[in-house]
Amino acid sequence: MDDTMARRACGAFQYYTCTRLPVRHAFTTKRGGVSTGACESMNLGFGRGDDPENVRRNYHILADALSIPYERITMTKQVHRDAVTVVTEETVGMGLTQPMAWESDALVTNLPNTPLAGFYADCVVTLLYDPVSHSCGVCHAGWRGTALGILPKTVDTMAAALGAQRDSLIAVIGPSIGVCCFETDADVPEAMEAQMGAQVQPFIREKGPKFHVDLQGINAMLLQSAGVRAENIVNSGLCTYCHSDEFWSHRVTKGERGVQAGIICLSSTEGEKRFK
Ligand SMILES: [Zn+2]
Repeated sequence: MDDTMARRACGAFQYYTCTRLPVRHAFTTKRGGVSTGACESMNLGFGRGDDPENVRRNYHILADALSIPYERITMTKQVHRDAVTVVTEETVGMGLTQPMAWESDALVTNLPNTPLAGFYADCVVTLLYDPVSHSCGVCHAGWRGTALGILPKTVDTMAAALGAQRDSLIAVIGPSIGVCCFETDADVPEAMEAQMGAQVQPFIREKGPKFHVDLQGINAMLLQSAGVRAENIVNSGLCTYCHSDEFWSHRVTKGERGVQAGIICLSSTEGEKRFK
């Protein structure tokens, strides 16, 4: 784990933060919610077969712990493509307090008190914050989204629509399946190389007939290509598969699981107080 990452707790609710992000944020674990069965206990997904009332209660626990407004939590709808959406006042609450009307794997905004949520259970969720423009984003990328370049597209959208500065932008790559555990057949690296070219080769390791793909590393490389400074990119280095005691891993659970969220929320004041 990167030494800027810290595990925190608020009662039974356990989550991770990064000291580099001076705004309210979290990468949740599966601990500290009210859901039961395969979704025990901090499931934040409405599509997991969980009782929706339990999911809403989990969001209240999360909102209280982070001091973020429940009614303004706004969600990605993850379809493994590369659409990035700018969240405006009309779309605040999408997925929680108003019906989901987009298919978007990444959200960005400069609205204060507007938590953005992206979901993971092996996939790579990255939180982004630019202190100059006071804008933020969340991006979900599995291998398909990674190959489509959704993370650099999220940076591009923050820059074009919100005035984010690439050389001040901070990005934190959250817990996700590590190169240690993301084993694939040849189809995945072949598809990624077809889409992205030779730049992905250093992030693919052959292991007998199988391959191990470093999605965290590829996304960090793509951030640098998009103009984000290396020192402003934090790779949490947390593997959801290795740490399946505290995270749901899609692969470990074979899909019988809840889902975690990466959440980020700007304050209403220009100068952020350091988030502790
Ligand atoms: Zn691992």
